[in-house]
Amino acid sequence: MDDDWGWVPEFIYIEGDEHVLLEALEKGKLQVISDGSLKQQVGTAAVQLRTRRGGHVIWIKCRTPGKPENQSAYLSGLIGLLAGILVASWLRLRLQSLAKPRVRVACDGIAALRQAFLTWPLSPTAPHFNLLSSIREALQSFSEPCAIYIDNKKVSCLALELVDKAVVLPELMEYWAAKGRLAPETFPLVDWPIVHQAMKPLKPAKQRFITKHTVGMCGVSKFRKQWSLDSENQCPLCGLEEDHLHVPCCPSDRAKTQWQLLLQELQEWFQSTTTATPIAQFLGALLCTIRTPNNLPQTETPWYRLHGMSSSALTQVCEAQLRLGPQCLLEGLLAHGWADHQQQFYRSRGSRRSGNRWAANLSRQLILIRKGMWKRRNDVFHSDDNIVNQQRATALHPSITPCGSPPTPTGGQGGMGPRHLRRPPQNQTISCRQATIDVGTDPPYSSPSSPLTYLSTYLPK
Ligand SMILES: [Zn+2]
Repeated sequence: MDDDWGWVPEFIYIEGDEHVLLEALEKGKLQVISDGSLKQQVGTAAVQLRTRRGGHVIWIKCRTPGKPENQSAYLSGLIGLLAGILVASWLRLRLQSLAKPRVRVACDGIAALRQAFLTWPLSPTAPHFNLLSSIREALQSFSEPCAIYIDNKKVSCLALELVDKAVVLPELMEYWAAKGRLAPETFPLVDWPIVHQAMKPLKPAKQRFITKHTVGMCGVSKFRKQWSLDSENQCPLCGLEEDHLHVPCCPSDRAKTQWQLLLQELQEWFQSTTTATPIAQFLGALLCTIRTPNNLPQTETPWYRLHGMSSSALTQVCEAQLRLGPQCLLEGLLAHGWADHQQQFYRSRGSRRSGNRWAANLSRQLILIRKGMWKRRNDVFHSDDNIVNQQRATALHPSITPCGSPPTPTGGQGGMGPRHLRRPPQNQTISCRQATIDVGTDPPYSSPSSPLTYLSTYLPK
């Protein structure tokens, strides 16, 4: 049999008189008998449209379309049913009357019969959605509503991963290349199955966080200014311009302390998972270049060999990770080969741990580092340590002092945020409320309901 991935029916011939078959159809005595088979990953189906006595027969033969690995007896059964129903429909077009005769259908696959003739809604992601929808459609209009071909191979159902790969991925790669994130030539270096394994169990909220902070369109000051949420693009820790790349590189002492803490946690994770020492050393050193880019290893001096990695295969993995760069590492993108080397290491120690699972967990650990830096940045952003807020407070009227503190001749300084101005001391609040109630008797303020009146009591006389 040749390699022609045809559609059904492929081969038809009539044994006997076609008019007798038409007459049997009109009288509701036509039978459709289908038999699908699978042998050596080749699916075929043979169908008979026959009178009850079998003297007149339309023979249909067809090969099941699709890839060899997708073949099954169930699929062959469906193909046979579709072929039989299509030919019966064509016969019906030859009838003079517009009646809808009954046809008895038999098939050796009960699952195929159920799926084809029951009326519950079909999910586009269900196996062989195309066939099932075609069969149901053939019972009405005799045509397939739509079909998907990838690389000239018919896809048997709406496999989202295949559609993503064929439709979304080319544009995504182009976008990444334009943004300087991942060049097309480095794309194959990434161990995408491991990335998929790492991302799949994460909750949607965490997946969204990763997407936003990978693209860079997140709540950093660069976008807060563009969205008119802030007047300036300033990092709350150091005051420099802030985008998503700045967060792990922020030169402030607080970011440095947090970074060291997170790296220490990563080292503890390496120890808890019995990570091979050269792998832990290399990845840790490469990660450090996020904050110290001048220490980026030169390609002509393969410094990672200093850590005892003599295997040429391991060297290739290190070089691939170097080409991806530290930022990709922080995004959890591991190069091909880490999982295999860690698996070998486990095996050499008699451990039955999985290298793939180790790599997927490592990818998540790396993302946690970035999330930890972002959390630290947000803690400062929403606190009185926010440099931007401190600068705003300094720019306020110098006579305004922090609430609860005695007024000073030079005005309020030192970490006063604007929100403090709306939080009076407890005893003063009581006075205001009393004044509101007893207005006209002995009010301490002329208009106690106004916050400006309240603040005026702190102004120097
Ligand atoms: Zn900063």
